[in-house]
Amino acid sequence: MTKVVKFGGSSLASAEQFKKVKDIITAEDSRRFVVPSAPGKRFSADTKVTDMLYGCYDLAAKGKDFTKEFEAIKERYNGIINDLGLDINLDNEFDVIKACFIGKAGRDYAASRGEFLNGMVLANYLGYNFIDAADVIFFDDRGQFDAKRTNKVLSERLEGLENAVVPGFYGSMPNDTIKTFSRGGSDITGSIVAAAVNADLYENWTDTSGFLTTDPRIVKDPAPITTITYKELRELSYMGASVFHEDAIFPVRKAGIAINIKNTNDPEAPGTLIVESTSQKPAFTITGIAGKKGFTVINIEKDMMNAELGFGRRVLEVFEKNGVSFEHMPSGIDTMSVIVTQEEFADKEQEILAGLHRNCHPDMIEIETDLALIAVVGRAMKANRGTAGRIFSALAHAHVNVKMIDQGSSELNVIIGVSESDFETAVKSIYDIFVETKL
Ligand code: ASP
Repeated sequence: MTKVVKFGGSSLASAEQFKKVKDIITAEDSRRFVVPSAPGKRFSADTKVTDMLYGCYDLAAKGKDFTKEFEAIKERYNGIINDLGLDINLDNEFDVIKACFIGKAGRDYAASRGEFLNGMVLANYLGYNFIDAADVIFFDDRGQFDAKRTNKVLSERLEGLENAVVPGFYGSMPNDTIKTFSRGGSDITGSIVAAAVNADLYENWTDTSGFLTTDPRIVKDPAPITTITYKELRELSYMGASVFHEDAIFPVRKAGIAINIKNTNDPEAPGTLIVESTSQKPAFTITGIAGKKGFTVINIEKDMMNAELGFGRRVLEVFEKNGVSFEHMPSGIDTMSVIVTQEEFADKEQEILAGLHRNCHPDMIEIETDLALIAVVGRAMKANRGTAGRIFSALAHAHVNVKMIDQGSSELNVIIGVSESDFETAVKSIYDIFVETKL
């Protein structure tokens, strides 16, 4: 049995957290390949090392003095090293990094040093091999992740090794410069390593016991999700549920490896298992509810729209030409509504309106802002009659006016548009009916 274990920043923020991590790793022989993030926050007002590195580099890039900021970063690592009593000295590394900052090696290089140094410290503490991600994780000329080359080099490099630490978040470009994934990208590295060693399981250790059925800021102590499919997770992440980097799903999903989200501060908790498919019945008809505010609806009306060939295409063409992507597009016989994110639309509003008039000659265009979208997601919905009915009766009882409904053809989710001021009430009422009363 081989597991790849990834630890997030808060799991490695201090010597105390490092000790928990070592206990977890040594508790099972199968935990052979370890992917660390950079040290994260030790308390809520603290700063992540990655953010300290960005800040420090920005000063360096402007030719300003960054001594104080650089010392603070050194302090974070030396604090951990001293508290753990490790026999490792990073002075040489810091000298190299400082010189590269002065030589303007780039923001990605700067940020990647957080994981690089933390990987060295962790490998020393565990007595594991250290492998620089720059030697095994590759991007192509366009800056896209190069899965083929990475998988080949990485699996060859790890084959025959009993254990290794591979820092998360970065890799190298064909010209040998450093490139990072987007923020939170160590999750992606963990997934890539799991695929390369054909792991039996990818454990992703963080500071929560997996996913919750909904946002705890809206519903107090929501029920945990024990098992979720990749597809369900994608729907929920898209709508704002964030524990795990969205792109990290792809490498393991292709290789058929499950992901277990676990809590470093509560290792006994089962966490959430993310799988391709499962025969396990979910505890409730729905798996989760997520939502986001900040959408705008553009309602377009035109008599006999239904008879006009190519009307929809001409509408969407206007959005496309202005670089605004649409989220949903419910329609009636003589009406069509396009839902977009408020932020994207605001910049291009007048161009789009003029374009619609020119391209489509509508009778009327009306704009409605401050819309919230709620996704009710669940693989069990397909087999349960009346799910939509229950959602809408719950909303009616809570006096929430539904402005838009969209059910995907997969019957995996129902998307509901409500006014932003009704958002929290709506989420609570849907949660209550499915989870509290288990209807
Ligand atoms: N340290 C990086 C960040 O803060 C990457 C990660 O933690 O996954 O975004």
